[in-house]
Amino acid sequence: MDVSSLLDGLNEKQREAVGAPLSSMLVLAGAGSGKTRVLTHRIAWLMQVENQSPYSILAVTFTNKAAREMRERVEKVVGHNMSRMWIGTFHGLAHRLLRTHWQDANLPQNFQILDGDDQYRLIKRILKSLNLDEKHYPPRMVQNYICTQKDEGFRPKDIEAGPFPLEQKLKEVYQVYQEACDRAGLVDFSEILLRAYELWLYKPLILQHYRDRFQHILVDEFQDTNTIQYKWIQVLAGTTAHVMIVGDDDQSIYGWRGAQVENLHKFLRDFPGAETIRLEQNYRSTGNILKAANELIANNPGRLGKDLWTQDADGEPIAVYSAFNELDEARFIVGRISDWQDMGNDLSDCAILYRSNAQSRVLEEALLHKGLPYKIYGGLRFFERQEIKDAMGYLRLMANHDDDAAFERVVNTPTRGIGDRTLEILRTTARQHGITLWQTALQALDKKLLSGRAATAVQNFLDLVVTMARETEEMALYRMVDHVSQASGLKTMYEQEKGEKAQSRVENLEELVTAARTFEVPEELLDMGELNAFLSHAALEAGEGQADANADAVQLMTLHTAKGLEFPVVFMAGVEEGLFPSQLTLEEGDRLEEERRLCYVGMTRAMQQLYITYAESRRIYGRENYSRPSRFIKELPPECIREVRLKAQVSTPAFSTRFSQSSNTQTGDSGFRHGARVRHFKFGEGTVVNSEGTGAQSRVQVNFDDFGSKWLVVAYAKLESV
Ligand code: ATP
Ligand code: MG
Repeated sequence: MDVSSLLDGLNEKQREAVGAPLSSMLVLAGAGSGKTRVLTHRIAWLMQVENQSPYSILAVTFTNKAAREMRERVEKVVGHNMSRMWIGTFHGLAHRLLRTHWQDANLPQNFQILDGDDQYRLIKRILKSLNLDEKHYPPRMVQNYICTQKDEGFRPKDIEAGPFPLEQKLKEVYQVYQEACDRAGLVDFSEILLRAYELWLYKPLILQHYRDRFQHILVDEFQDTNTIQYKWIQVLAGTTAHVMIVGDDDQSIYGWRGAQVENLHKFLRDFPGAETIRLEQNYRSTGNILKAANELIANNPGRLGKDLWTQDADGEPIAVYSAFNELDEARFIVGRISDWQDMGNDLSDCAILYRSNAQSRVLEEALLHKGLPYKIYGGLRFFERQEIKDAMGYLRLMANHDDDAAFERVVNTPTRGIGDRTLEILRTTARQHGITLWQTALQALDKKLLSGRAATAVQNFLDLVVTMARETEEMALYRMVDHVSQASGLKTMYEQEKGEKAQSRVENLEELVTAARTFEVPEELLDMGELNAFLSHAALEAGEGQADANADAVQLMTLHTAKGLEFPVVFMAGVEEGLFPSQLTLEEGDRLEEERRLCYVGMTRAMQQLYITYAESRRIYGRENYSRPSRFIKELPPECIREVRLKAQVSTPAFSTRFSQSSNTQTGDSGFRHGARVRHFKFGEGTVVNSEGTGAQSRVQVNFDDFGSKWLVVAYAKLESV
């Protein structure tokens, strides 16, 4: 490919960044201005124009999905396979390093990843063993504390705990927790990064090797890096590598997890000579969406400040819908999606974004009710579901008997008569001797420390794991998974439970076999064996890669997960005070600004149409709440929005007065009376039950005798009166 075509499809500023001489630089720009595109083209440029080897390039993205897309995009531009280039997330890349240098990182070769849920359980057990009351030491708080310390690069020995007993205790729990992880060969997510960083610090030869190798380091979404990620890059780069970072301070949304937007400034100090390039043209959204997003974010003080403009037309105004409650909200959203589909569009064009995972259930039900397929990113993650973790627990314990978290998970699932008392004995002994549960169990049996029945039960459990490991030694991975879910008794257990939930658990176990069958060991993990690779994959990718990646489905995800993505139609649901901004953040000053940035991220995902919805009352977390529309809605310029109100709801007192002047003009003028009988060429006869909108946008809801309720755009539906 020649040079000019590499620069095709880029504006002048983008070209400047892509074609810059070898150097470090910062691309600072707002949403949708092509930062990710620039990064991708730069990689291609380095290889094709600067003749740099793919081997010398390290690219860091925010999600595995983004990494895959970037690899594909680069491969398309350069026209060949790029497996030698390292592209991945911070966690993925650090994990790869630890797998390669496990000895130098002081890890067993078969170390496993401890995910958040298992980490929480482990912390609970440790608190109990230290006789610490959960009321004073809530496990979530302790978990946060440990992660924060690690994200800042602190080991217990580095922490100068103040005079307060709480700090002293937390430090002690951290210490005990870390020892437990080390014994069991487990690394949590923060540990992956910290250890990879320590590898640089304590193993200068390894560091030198990678410094010689990675001459080009590129990082997307840099505003969300935390301290340890920053240091990892900084140390690796040394004084010779060329580092290109791209980011947007207005999209920094992980402050609560230790991300430091200051890293953008820090970069300019630590990499003298790095130039800043600003991009100002937005290519993603319509004028209305962009203008509204710009005005919203202008309410935040202390921004680096960027002006974004678009050549695009204003497009549709942002539609704001005031729902009666969360069910009405879900019905409204699903109705619009169904209309979109009726007009011949793809469901996957539509994304529903929400602040809290708990909001998804009602939306899911409404979609199911309407028969619309959907896909959830994050949240209800496949690999985080109970039954999947049970099966993976057995596999992990087979791969590594010392994996205490896995041991705890499956020792009595399904129940096999190993009681709490027996487990307590094992735990205490394990702690006293500083050995793992598996080893303790072996010793306890050997020394006859357990009573007859308990001893038999424990013996049977150990035998089961050893036998399954032996029987599956030669099997293909998916046969192994199948065998384990049967032989462990898990499948039978769930089959015997009644109800839909149990049924779906059985289906999930079957899906796991499919996942194993289609699993391809990534090249970089080849030498760790198929099982270990699969286990790591499950822990790192939970939820990101779901089974039917290509099926046409509505996309559901939290606002956080949506970062970096774009969709023609976006719904932001639950935009209410107390939910978004969330109650928690209302209580802390600067967190509100982070919520506003999150709102900016959400809005700027939309390309053509943005819907914002809120409910006057909402049942969530088991409580009924009445709330006001979010302050963020009030911060949008009135000329960019249009209030949607369904006729059926006119009897409901309007909650917001803000839109009341415009609402009069919005009552439907579809030309069809409610209750009128109509005929549709495809759906047959039905009754008009609802309408909304005016002119070309007016729609009616018809309850068809044979097809149920549908929203139709009057201009397209060709309805006849009967
Ligand atoms: P975000 O901040 O949300 O991550 P971004 O700055 O990374 O956004 P991209 O995702 O790279 O933006 O680009 C946004 C959209 O604009 C993409 O669809 C991209 O293909 C398109 N785009 C970027 N630059 C151009 C250009 N010069 N001409 C046409 N389309 C472009
Ligand atoms: Mg991007």
